[in-house]
Amino acid sequence: MGHHLDRVPFSGIIRIRDMMYSIENPFRLDQGDVSFDAPDTVKAAMRRAIDENKSHYLQTTGVPRLLELLADKLRRVNRIPVADPDEVMVTTGGIHALYLVCQALLEPGDEVILPDPTWPPCAGNMLAARAVPVGCPVHESLGWRFDLDELESRITPATRAIYINSPHNPTGGVLTRADVERIAAIVQERNLWLLSDEAYEDVIYDGEHVSPASLPGMYERCISVYTFSKTYAMTGLRLGYLATPNSALRERIKKVLFYTCSNVTSVVQFGGIGALEGPQDCVAAFREELKARRDLFYDGIRHHGAGVLTGAAPPGAFYAFLRIDPAWPHEGKGSASWAMAAHLISRARIGCVPGADFGPNGEGYIRFCFARDRRELAGALESMGRAFGTGAISEVAAASSPPPPRLPPASA
Ligand code: PLP
Repeated sequence: MGHHLDRVPFSGIIRIRDMMYSIENPFRLDQGDVSFDAPDTVKAAMRRAIDENKSHYLQTTGVPRLLELLADKLRRVNRIPVADPDEVMVTTGGIHALYLVCQALLEPGDEVILPDPTWPPCAGNMLAARAVPVGCPVHESLGWRFDLDELESRITPATRAIYINSPHNPTGGVLTRADVERIAAIVQERNLWLLSDEAYEDVIYDGEHVSPASLPGMYERCISVYTFSKTYAMTGLRLGYLATPNSALRERIKKVLFYTCSNVTSVVQFGGIGALEGPQDCVAAFREELKARRDLFYDGIRHHGAGVLTGAAPPGAFYAFLRIDPAWPHEGKGSASWAMAAHLISRARIGCVPGADFGPNGEGYIRFCFARDRRELAGALESMGRAFGTGAISEVAAASSPPPPRLPPASA
């Protein structure tokens, strides 16, 4: 394993994240972190857990009350036929859930088909399990969705699973119900697993979120992965969960869970209980504000991306994955997306991630996270305008942005 890890790449996003800490007054549009704070229900529940000395070991797969609430949410919201809270397991964020699943499910050499571009830790976790990620393009011309005939053509005798992520990081593409139904049919016909990463299930502006495990006969074939990070602005608290009815697989996952963390941090699990027991208005308020930020950002890009950066506003997630004009001069050689990231970081102090970091099909694009607050977005756009020589943007950004919606009161 030691030497094998030398061949597993580190995420470029994390390299950029670490580098951005050395930039003065940066615009942090690089990582997928929202600028909101966790709701007060989460903070109050964590405070209470501390005061009540909930600082001891816990059940390996999660506090029973949290598992009960999650099973209920999966049944009610995702329409997944969870029979028992034991089918749910709490993890240290979604990334940990993906690690557990890859370790527990995959054999060396197993192929897993995944979108290209894709969130890098996803392929990294497959590689760490000695499996083989096989990219299948999602196409800008299809709203960053698969051509499903092409997806099917990627299946070989070594294919074990398909990984989907809708809404999608880095493009914001959302699979339609028809897409999910066709993927479900492929998975059933070809006897595959479906790994469904639903990290952005609550960040959809247009369209609907369809959990594949809700479709007839699919729960048995699906491992569904979720996180509190994006829905409740809990990125640093590290709370995620997964669901599968397959008890043999769960036994394996439980071992990896135990060996990697014994149990997920106690206080954070109580924070999760607070999030689920409290009113859910914050989820809709975050989404409404994210939509306004998306529109502000795309208005700004239209005026001051100087035609160098273009693309349609996405229906989901909170990333702008923008095409770089091939005529943009970048000293000729190498990756245009890395050259653009270097240009914007060094000249404009804007954190961003080169499309190439998400896979070969991402080359020629650059990703910005628009979940930052409006002032930071407007500042980044202004700075970008200067770097591209298009002048000031503040009036455009101010004119195009509606007033911020009121977030629910702190105690809600
Ligand atoms: N899946 C995708 C596609 C993501 O983009 C992320 C985070 O950015 C995650 C899963 C996991 O997030 P976390 O580990 O914070 O729960």
